[in-house]
Amino acid sequence: MSRDRFDVAVIGAGAAGMMAAAVAGQRGLRVVLIDHAERLAEKIRISGGGRCNFTNLGASPAQFLSRNPDFCRSALRAYGPQDFLDLLRAHGVSWHEKHRGQLFCDDSSESVIQVLRRECDAGGVAWRMPCGVQSVAREGGGFALSTDVGPIRAAQLVLATGGMAIPQMGATDFSLRIARQFGLRIVEPRPALVPLTFDAGHWQPYAALSGVALEVRLSHEQRAPEDRAAAPGLPGSESAPDSPGGLPASPDGGAAARPARAGRKPRRGAGRAEFLEDLLFTHRGLSGPGILQISSYWQPGDPIRIDLAPGQAMGDALVAAKSGSRQTLLTALSGIWPRRLAEAWLAQEDAAGASAAGSARHASGQGAAGGLGGLRLADVPDRHLRALGEGIHGWTLWPTGTAGYKKAEVMRGGVDTDELDQRSLQSHRCPGLYIVGEAVDVTGWLGGYNFQWAWASGAACGRALTAARAANPAGWG
Ligand SMILES: Cc1cc2nc3c(=O)[nH]c(=O)nc-3n(C[C@H](O)[C@H](O)[C@H](O)COP(=O)(O)OP(=O)(O)OC[C@H]3O[C@@H](n4cnc5c(N)ncnc54)[C@H](O)[C@@H]3O)c2cc1C
Repeated sequence: MSRDRFDVAVIGAGAAGMMAAAVAGQRGLRVVLIDHAERLAEKIRISGGGRCNFTNLGASPAQFLSRNPDFCRSALRAYGPQDFLDLLRAHGVSWHEKHRGQLFCDDSSESVIQVLRRECDAGGVAWRMPCGVQSVAREGGGFALSTDVGPIRAAQLVLATGGMAIPQMGATDFSLRIARQFGLRIVEPRPALVPLTFDAGHWQPYAALSGVALEVRLSHEQRAPEDRAAAPGLPGSESAPDSPGGLPASPDGGAAARPARAGRKPRRGAGRAEFLEDLLFTHRGLSGPGILQISSYWQPGDPIRIDLAPGQAMGDALVAAKSGSRQTLLTALSGIWPRRLAEAWLAQEDAAGASAAGSARHASGQGAAGGLGGLRLADVPDRHLRALGEGIHGWTLWPTGTAGYKKAEVMRGGVDTDELDQRSLQSHRCPGLYIVGEAVDVTGWLGGYNFQWAWASGAACGRALTAARAANPAGWG
């Protein structure tokens, strides 16, 4: 076989591509792995804070978003977290569980990269890296690639160039472009696991909270397109009186916490996502694991709802704390919350002025000067404390956007799963073409799920490539 002819060309030497190449190579196929990057598997390297959250013990189809949520089932069943652990064990790599089934390397993510590289070497995989691919064409039942190092021909082609997150690290839409070229449908790609942003003016009261983190419960109600079009802050929408233009609503739960909207019966196709995770305030908006999780479900025009004191019954707790207390409302709230958040929240209550809790000032006979936070807790009427609690448990926000691919961990959307066979990841429309990993419309939650999908889809494809060659013993090349 000549130097530029292979059974399989895999474009993209990341998590899924290396897995597919190694499995196919070890089954006797001649495989070439092509990547345009200077350094191998950068996303594995930087993942999990440098320790790679390489899988999650609880991985199941329930933690993946896709137009077809069952699509990932077959690959995940055939190659689950334990299979990857067996691989790491065989290479002497140790790991630990950090949080809710999330597994990280004890040492560094480099060890995962080296495991995959050694597995590729064991399969005799040929490397072309760094090597750009200019074009891909069908030729004689196989594929002809034009690359930086000259033409490469292969009987089968695996697209494994991942998603568009972190373009500054070389991420591209290559797989989507080639898939489109061969007539495959694409589910609109979007940044996911990404911070959410807000209108700068409306976020201003919270910008000073940058760095504050706390555990919260976040939820997102998937809405019908007609509801989305009528969201506050979008043209033609009903605009909340104190919350124009994609704002974070005032903490009194005023406009944004309207129960009528929240209580609306979900329509067909609607779904609800909920996460108990940490939230991080930033200068531009919200981040942290909780926001990253909910961002994958969020669509422009949707609100998100945040319980800022999950499991605490804040209103009742403040009422109960009144008896015999000489502390101020600010001191009481700071006992439960980060002080900066308590200050900002009460300042917003003051700014809202006419809000139920804000009017407590007037009820207690105090003027605006000291602000709500300066009131003695014992002087604030129960109903105002309960209203304050309701706002804290039901903060409803309309993000204006996301921080984009530059800050996203993954891309959602990708090659439509209807185009692919779920056992092999082969295209129905274009036999011999396979798409694996993040380029497929399968997006995992934060917590090791995306790598698990990369391993599982890569392994499924690697095994099928072997079978495809056996079915066509004349091969190509
Ligand atoms: C900051 C960050 C942290 C993350 N942490 C985690 C984590 O801890 N756990 C987890 O499960 N997931 C994590 N992810 C997500 C995870 O990295 C990806 O889902 C996973 O790497 C996808 O695997 P893949 O093989 O499909 O693509 P990638 O691993 O991205 O590999 C794609 C490869 O294709 C190459 N390529 C791209 N375009 C071209 C082109 N035009 N020509 C040639 N080659 C090309 C790239 O150089 C790259 O090597 C993280 C992502 C980011 C950005």
